[in-house]
Amino acid sequence: MDITEYSYVIVGSGLLGSVTAERIANQLNQPVLVIEKRDHIGGNCYSATDPATGIEYHRYGTHIFHTSNEKVWNYIRRFTSFNTYRHKVLSCYKDRIYPFPINLATINQFFDRNLKPQEVEHFLNTLRQPVKGTPANFEEQAISLLGPELYEAFFKHYTIKQWQVDPRQLPPAIFNRLPFRNNYDDNYFFDRWQGIPEKGYTDLFQRLLADKKIKVLLNTDFFEVRHLLKKDACLIYSGPIDRFFDYKYGKLSWRTLRFEQETVDTEDYQGNSVINFPEADIPYTRIHEPRHLHPEKEYPKDKTIIIREYSLADRGDDPYYPIAAAENQRLLGLYQKEAAQLNNVFISGRLGDYKYYDMHQTIDRALEIFETRILPQTHPIHAV
Ligand SMILES: Cc1cc2nc3c(=O)[nH]c(=O)nc-3n(C[C@H](O)[C@H](O)[C@H](O)COP(=O)(O)OP(=O)(O)OC[C@H]3O[C@@H](n4cnc5c(N)ncnc54)[C@H](O)[C@@H]3O)c2cc1C
Repeated sequence: MDITEYSYVIVGSGLLGSVTAERIANQLNQPVLVIEKRDHIGGNCYSATDPATGIEYHRYGTHIFHTSNEKVWNYIRRFTSFNTYRHKVLSCYKDRIYPFPINLATINQFFDRNLKPQEVEHFLNTLRQPVKGTPANFEEQAISLLGPELYEAFFKHYTIKQWQVDPRQLPPAIFNRLPFRNNYDDNYFFDRWQGIPEKGYTDLFQRLLADKKIKVLLNTDFFEVRHLLKKDACLIYSGPIDRFFDYKYGKLSWRTLRFEQETVDTEDYQGNSVINFPEADIPYTRIHEPRHLHPEKEYPKDKTIIIREYSLADRGDDPYYPIAAAENQRLLGLYQKEAAQLNNVFISGRLGDYKYYDMHQTIDRALEIFETRILPQTHPIHAV
């Protein structure tokens, strides 16, 4: 089938695009064209096997699947099985390793104490520095809840490295979203289900896109072939929303990441999948060691790979994290108003909604678009 003939066109083969494509092909029994500008499917969840070590790694940063959404969990397990990995993060401060987010072990180690859970609140009261009125920014909130020592060590410089912004410019609510535990629970997520696809994320995407009615065009920018497509095709676009409207109101700003991969001649470099480096004079924010994501796999005893992560301002071609600034929200509002007026065009996903979504939220969003926007326009042929 020629690309000019498709009635369903999807831009992007990340989770938003691939789940929608799977639904249209399998539930509507319709041909779907997926256009992807990269040379691989999977969007930012893409995983690959390192040829030198056989270790599965995530090219765009460590991705841990976690959800408490039963519908999403039941859906995604039709395309993959998950291993038993449970995410734990460590933070390296002044050459010492601490559990993170902050829990009782972090506090006891940092202050050389042996506090019991019921003693934590009293101890924190001795550290806290109350501010006049309600805390006005991230820094005031952190200091009023944890005191200056923990804030300086684990949050201040990490936040500056990650966002290149003074924490006094960030809203206090961001700090409230960071979990704190007065017990020894060092789990990063509290979701009901968690794990890594046993055969990697790319295998999961191959299965989502396996139906013969789905045609994937790699290395193809939608804007270069747009003129060839059917004018009345249903379009699901998961690229950047400002690009869709040719940046007519201006560009949304993003943070981007740079990854530096190295093969190291040892079985286990750091003993954990992710370690944070919150100090100002260490240029990277984290080191990933992907072998720990697959405890069930046999990996070499003499080699491992590590990936250093650096955070940078995006120059427009590799957006990672949306930036919560008023100007971005204003531009987004203008673009969304235009998008709402379009017929048969759905702009969504992390780039289309200019929003950080976890994977389970992206899947949920794709299922919702399919069920509430696409399905009602059609007469389904196949039941789920
Ligand atoms: C560093 C990092 C770590 C993360 N870790 C986790 C985690 O541990 N757990 C979790 O649940 N979530 C995590 N996420 C979130 C997860 O990556 C997203 O939920 C998911 O990737 C969103 O999928 P998407 O389809 O919206 O976007 P994407 O995966 O970005 O897919 C969009 C696709 O559209 C393509 N595209 C864009 N423009 C065009 C165009 N003009 N023409 C053709 N194709 C185009 C892009 O190339 C891309 O492949 C993380 C995100 C980041 C940034």
